[in-house]
Amino acid sequence: NDSPIPSPDEGIEEDKAVIEEEKARPIPILLANLDEHTFQLDTAALEKILLQDHVKDLNVVVVSVAGAFRKGKSFLLDFMLRYMNNLHSDTWMGGDDDPLTGFSWRGGCERETTGILLWNEVFVVDKPDGSKVAVLLVDTQGAFDSQSTIKDSATVFALSTMTSSVQVFNLSQNIQEDDLQHLQLFTEYGRLAMEDIHLKPFQSLMFLIRDWCYPYDYEYGLEGGNAFLDKKLEVREKQHEELQNVRKHVHSCFSTISCFLLPHPGLNVATNRNFDGRLRDIQADFKTELAELIPLLLSPDRLVEKEIAGKKVTCGELVEYFKSYIKIYQG
Ligand code: GDP
Ligand code: MG
Repeated sequence: NDSPIPSPDEGIEEDKAVIEEEKARPIPILLANLDEHTFQLDTAALEKILLQDHVKDLNVVVVSVAGAFRKGKSFLLDFMLRYMNNLHSDTWMGGDDDPLTGFSWRGGCERETTGILLWNEVFVVDKPDGSKVAVLLVDTQGAFDSQSTIKDSATVFALSTMTSSVQVFNLSQNIQEDDLQHLQLFTEYGRLAMEDIHLKPFQSLMFLIRDWCYPYDYEYGLEGGNAFLDKKLEVREKQHEELQNVRKHVHSCFSTISCFLLPHPGLNVATNRNFDGRLRDIQADFKTELAELIPLLLSPDRLVEKEIAGKKVTCGELVEYFKSYIKIYQG
């Protein structure tokens, strides 16, 4: 339609685009091209979020959630958003009938792309010690279905781990041997990068196990999780050498490792197509544990600033780190 007369709807369309543009939402900042196995950093999108005047000079806290598709990462991040938006309220989890919104966790809304998504709203938080920090929420996903996509996922995982202060490794039901092997591959990539630039950027890793069904062996939550993880990462002489190495390696890569066990959220969440995320439809013990987990990651007194080579990093500096890290993988 190249008619010179503007259609009456055109202005409205533009307004809609502006509103869409400014809405709080996840923005892809790193995308993997799975055919060519290349990566693209959207520097403009990254800068638009991190170089805003009110955050660019603040130390940054980066909480990232990583793992395979369709395992409840975005669902979890939506509760992190609720927490950040109601930081000083006991009822941050919301009303029983509020639909969950944010990182569009419902199938269909979100293309299943390997990459890194940033929430475009940076939360400014006053820590109890009087300092102000900027909190960034990051959704990371990978496809783990073939050798080549595992390599892409490894790159994404490594990049997001290097740029986050806490990496939540989201797993379903258990820590499998191949989860550990993937983790080793991921961190191997990260170490390569670290050797290149002589920096040690790995900070904290939390294994988050969803649908945990052995609460009688290890109870839900952090304590049970940590006990389970200790057992899982134990190096035993009888183990195959490769399995021993994976275990040693994981320990040597991160300054802190922990594990949290979450119960199954109930059949509505897992299988009801009409489920819209409302609390009423979620199992009580899931909500109880969620109320423990989210503040562990995000309460103002627990926020951990991103450090690289022992120095705290600002939002502005994080942009530069992203740029130099991506270069390593573009090789
Ligand atoms: P993502 O691809 O990892 O981001 O997964 P989503 O957050 O989009 O969730 C995928 C599906 O799993 C949705 O239908 C959710 O309702 C459901 N879901 C969310 N959390 C859990 C959980 O802890 N256990 C189970 N079994 N399903 C979940
Ligand atoms: Mg998702």
